[in-house]
Amino acid sequence: TQHTAGSAAALLQRHRAVMPDWLALYYGEPMEITHGEGRHVWDGEGNRYLDFFGGILTTMTAHALPEVTKAVSEQAGRILHTSSLYLDRPMVELAERIAALSGIPDARVFFTTSGTEANDTALLLATTYRRSNQILALRNSYHGRSFSAIGITGNRSWSPTSLSPLQTLYVHGGVRTRGPYAALGDAEFIEACTADLEDMLGQTGGDVAALIAEPVQGVGGFTSPPDGLLAAFREVLREHGILWISDEVQTGWGRTGEHFWGWQAHDRAGPPDMLTFAKGIGNGMSIGGVVAGAEVMNCLPANSISTFGGSPVTMAAGNANLNYLLEHDLQGNARRVGGLLLERLRAASAGLGVVREVRGRGLMAGVEMVEPHTDTPSPRAASLVLEAAREGGLLVGKGGGHATSSVLRIAPPLSLTVAEAEEGAEILEHALRTVDTELGGESTQ
Ligand code: PMP
Repeated sequence: TQHTAGSAAALLQRHRAVMPDWLALYYGEPMEITHGEGRHVWDGEGNRYLDFFGGILTTMTAHALPEVTKAVSEQAGRILHTSSLYLDRPMVELAERIAALSGIPDARVFFTTSGTEANDTALLLATTYRRSNQILALRNSYHGRSFSAIGITGNRSWSPTSLSPLQTLYVHGGVRTRGPYAALGDAEFIEACTADLEDMLGQTGGDVAALIAEPVQGVGGFTSPPDGLLAAFREVLREHGILWISDEVQTGWGRTGEHFWGWQAHDRAGPPDMLTFAKGIGNGMSIGGVVAGAEVMNCLPANSISTFGGSPVTMAAGNANLNYLLEHDLQGNARRVGGLLLERLRAASAGLGVVREVRGRGLMAGVEMVEPHTDTPSPRAASLVLEAAREGGLLVGKGGGHATSSVLRIAPPLSLTVAEAEEGAEILEHALRTVDTELGGESTQ
């Protein structure tokens, strides 16, 4: 490529001089990604990487997918943007398809440009509809970076202010890896969390707008409430008329393999009152949105507009990407290849003192790192594995609660092949073993 060696270091210097300090960057020596194809990306120095993080799950199908590129460039050649003051054919078309897929009766769709803005809109709708600014959220949650989304983000390492316009009540349910809940089986855990929710609602008198929950906590480290927990919550919420918002920003579009939406793992609960989406649907183009039944969606008493939400060029990407996803059954691929990948990762981690747990659904896998043979989350081990994987030609992400990023997050594009899954698992196994030895984990096998 045109890039010269060392250009990333110079770019980093310029980045540091002009960007905010709090803008998170991966790696001791941050990298510039200059192009991608399929499940691979290249850095400015010409190194190729297998991409197991897909730009934080934004590359849903594949990098540089020709079908999406073609749809975007054709649309860009006609008109890039007008605004939602005019009828927008690609927007209506994508809205119809998402409404039909959502499972929400009489669904209406509103497009935004990010997941944050989608959740912000869902909160506006819920608080207006219910005339309450109290929100229930799960501990360890992440819902975005706007003023209101920060206020419902339980993962405090991503929540830089406590001056929220909302009153948020954090309930148990997202994680049970540690503390008094760790020893409980699914049924007991669900019972304990539901009792906790009832207790909390007893204290509020039920004056709560909504519960917002990620079906699998993303930034929190790919940890899921057990199936059935949200169904149990739903019964309690219904008694009070409290809405349920499913944040599907990471779990939507078949990512979890078994289901198209994350909420469907909690099937008995029926569809949520609202779901929010973003990330993957545009395959890199900025699309977010909210789906809600007409009564909730139409409760706002004044006009509103989103200048860029639903712009034709992003909608063209969304429609082409959704076509590809459905036509190639990438949900089925996520189930099959994701299952195999999880199996390989479990085998690769067996006996390693620095790995506490491998968990996941579909193409959403988490590897929780600890200090060797302890229960102490280890952000240093996670960082070392991230670096070692990069050395080996593999990009993965990290996340996790407890103010630490101690969980490796693996979420490749949904078109991942079996051969690529095996290759990635091999690179990761090598990285895990290297770090295990370095930190004195001493494999027990
Ligand atoms: N909700 C969840 C579950 C997310 O993971 C994220 C992004 N990590 C957001 C909301 C916010 O989305 P965005 O970064 O597009 O604003």
